[in-house]
Amino acid sequence: MNSSWKSDFFASIINTQLEGYLSEFARLLKQWELNNKNNKECVRLDKQLKQLPLLDIAKNTFTLDASDTVRINVTDAELMTDGARAKTQSVLKQFMPWRKGPFSLFGIDIDTEWRSDWKWNRVLPHIGSLEEHKVLDVGCGSGYHLFRMHQAGAKYVVGIDPTALFFYQFHCFKQYLSDIPIHYLPLGIEDMPSTQSFDTVFSMGVLYHRHDPIKFLKELRAQLTDSGQLVLETLVVDGDVNTVFVPEGRYAQMRNVWFLPSIDAMILWLKRVGFKNVDCVDIDITSTEEQRSTHWMPNQSLSDFLDPNDSSLTIEGHPAPKRAVFIAR
Ligand code: SAH
Repeated sequence: MNSSWKSDFFASIINTQLEGYLSEFARLLKQWELNNKNNKECVRLDKQLKQLPLLDIAKNTFTLDASDTVRINVTDAELMTDGARAKTQSVLKQFMPWRKGPFSLFGIDIDTEWRSDWKWNRVLPHIGSLEEHKVLDVGCGSGYHLFRMHQAGAKYVVGIDPTALFFYQFHCFKQYLSDIPIHYLPLGIEDMPSTQSFDTVFSMGVLYHRHDPIKFLKELRAQLTDSGQLVLETLVVDGDVNTVFVPEGRYAQMRNVWFLPSIDAMILWLKRVGFKNVDCVDIDITSTEEQRSTHWMPNQSLSDFLDPNDSSLTIEGHPAPKRAVFIAR
């Protein structure tokens, strides 16, 4: 991929509060490029990205529609030949497994493992207007929600996620839309300088992957302005203010799951790290309609990870995935 994604980001932070971190970001992103220059998977994905059709066409030929499906189309229908469509489909397949979406590129619909639009619909009614907000999404995956945040009126959106596949998936779409104020940095939250400059910080589906949840909450807080809001979505268990579940081994077949607090424990943690006005605004048991195998993610999914005789339990015998959304200021 050419490095315009980097220069676009640097240009976007000039004359903003983030400008003071420009050299630090430049160092971090350079380091990422050096680390991945000879990484086989990155080299493969990079090559595939350049295979997508119509890249040499003027950017204003493309339209973005970020309602439930994040959809990119070409305004000049004649450009979309059968050959270009077949090519789009075969290249997109090279970026499997597609977990977070749905997306559609030039009429090719990517039915992802997750209906990430359902999560967005649970969160959106509670977060207030994003108009004029600078937004950070920590652990943004394919970047599906970045497009939804942009569509919801955010002035400026940054996503961070250290998983290279998801970074490349994002660029399958973003490279057609270089002018929209959405940026993706392939970094972990622990790499970020403490910018204190975002009005809303989202972190959805990440806390239980961190083995130091309190440190993680402090890192999220360090990205917020004084009056900013945190939108945190995570797995929870039933119990009182001192209930926290740590699985001994896997949880719903996931290896890297650490702390699942009760709702009251999560509220307490948020208050202990200095948040005020902490509310749990949504609780939802994840359904096998929201997370399931598809043609674009043909591996096992939630229905394989639940006890076949009792869907209130995982196959390890733990409580089945229940997710809660918290807003903290
Ligand atoms: N936010 C999306 C995706 C959640 S999946 C959603 O809710 O649908 C969890 C994501 O967290 C993965 O994409 C993973 O790569 C990312 N992640 C893991 N460790 C991280 C870290 N240290 N910093 C930021 N993101 C991280």
